Amino acid sequence: MSQKFVEQLKEILGPNGWLEGEDTESYLTDMFGKQGETPLVARPDTTEQVSEVVKICAANNVAIIPQGGNTNVCRMAIPPENKSAVILSMARMNKIIDIDPECSTITAEAGCFVQSLQDYAREHNRLFSPDWGARGSAMIGGAVATNGGGQNVFRYGTTREQVLGMEVVLPDGQIWDGMRALRKDNSGYDLKQLFIGSEGTLGIITKLVFKLHPNQGQHCSLFGILTGMSELMNYLELAQKVGGDKLTAFELLPGLGVEKALNRYPALQRPLDQKSDWYVLVRFSDWENVEELVTTLFEQGFEAGILANAVMSQNLEQENNLWEIRDQMIPTQYFKSRLLKWDVSVPISKITHFLDSAENLVREHQQAAIIYVTGHVGDGNIHYTVIPEGEGDPGFDELCNRIYQDVDELVWSLGGSIAAEHGVGQLLKSRVRNQKSDVEYSMMQQLRHIFDPQGIMNPGKLIDS
Ligand SMILES: Cc1cc2nc3c(=O)[nH]c(=O)nc-3n(C[C@H](O)[C@H](O)[C@H](O)COP(=O)(O)OP(=O)(O)OC[C@H]3O[C@@H](n4cnc5c(N)ncnc54)[C@H](O)[C@@H]3O)c2cc1C
Repeated sequence: MSQKFVEQLKEILGPNGWLEGEDTESYLTDMFGKQGETPLVARPDTTEQVSEVVKICAANNVAIIPQGGNTNVCRMAIPPENKSAVILSMARMNKIIDIDPECSTITAEAGCFVQSLQDYAREHNRLFSPDWGARGSAMIGGAVATNGGGQNVFRYGTTREQVLGMEVVLPDGQIWDGMRALRKDNSGYDLKQLFIGSEGTLGIITKLVFKLHPNQGQHCSLFGILTGMSELMNYLELAQKVGGDKLTAFELLPGLGVEKALNRYPALQRPLDQKSDWYVLVRFSDWENVEELVTTLFEQGFEAGILANAVMSQNLEQENNLWEIRDQMIPTQYFKSRLLKWDVSVPISKITHFLDSAENLVREHQQAAIIYVTGHVGDGNIHYTVIPEGEGDPGFDELCNRIYQDVDELVWSLGGSIAAEHGVGQLLKSRVRNQKSDVEYSMMQQLRHIFDPQGIMNPGKLIDS
């Protein structure tokens, strides 16, 4: 990359619009550590600047990595190992442009934080539904580019289902204005869908229009222990029967994770004295008080012999405490040795079958491995982590590969996916190849090539170009 190229970028971006040298370190570092190089982190503050930066990169055949909050968990938003690329940070494009309560829509630049849209929508008595632990640092452009899931999917769908329109800078610098706020538009291919979940490989999302939902400000949750894991689906069914569309989340928490969270964060309150290998966390939400409904779920759970022990949140503080515990189930903060990870999606009816079979497979390979599971049960999404013993021992890598292979194949045999909501990035690229037929993989490659024939957009992620 010539000095002239870098100077051209700086001129377009202005003095506050770029970083270099030591200041780029954090942009090259994700949860797995530092990787790659960058001549410059571009921090444009208009779509036109994004377009100009892309045009210069395309003319010089330089790779571009779109970056939002860099909270992804699949190595998606930094340059490939030993490679250099311009990082295009959306951090300065952080304006909420408009909220339209009549149409229940919100329009914003892609660098806004997820939480900023949640808060702004709430002030207007509306709900922006994407929500997960990284809400304060993940950006809406990143949320769309990964099709983020989280805790509200069961009731409102993934981020994809919230997107009505978008503006995108294409890999040749052209600007596509698809900022429509329509619920219906069958005027041809729905191009915005291609960019949702594209992980920065097809273009740079600069603005978005989302649909909002009525703000169901009343929440009440139940935190309970089941009489056995075989009752998991029965309790989900009961919660659906009792709550109907007021059931907004049904989560599974590992006992090990709850203990680790309570130890690490002393401000968290222990919800139940009794300890268990598993807990369920069920939430109902509505405009009106939902306590009575949760009480019914509580009572009927015991009557049906499904619940062994449970508590309900009695006030906002207790409600927040339960969900803060849920947010802290992230395994990387508790285990420092090698983690084997699956973001499993299976048909909901097959969750317990998956859990039993996967445990058997892992134990066949290593009896002592720690199995750490948390999940959005209502969506059939299980975050499955195995921590084998013996890192550094001869044969350890081989053991890990065998476990990966067996559990991947189990997931596929159940009609599932190993990339439910976190996406693919660099981390799952080679494993996801085996989930796709040649026909499907080739369609994806052709699509990528149509948008980005030079292969400059986020190389090394999602699929081989
Ligand atoms: C504590 C914690 C909890 C989490 N919980 C969940 C969860 O429950 N569910 C879930 O789905 N995820 C979860 N995540 C993962 C992460 O927050 C999401 O993947 C999020 O959507 C990433 O947003 P980001 O702005 O950080 O994007 P980044 O990490 O910066 O980028 C992600 C990908 O999107 C691309 N990209 C970013 N911005 C743009 C843009 N404007 N245009 C085009 N491409 C772009 C990047 O190139 C990259 O490929 C969690 C992460 C953490 C740290």
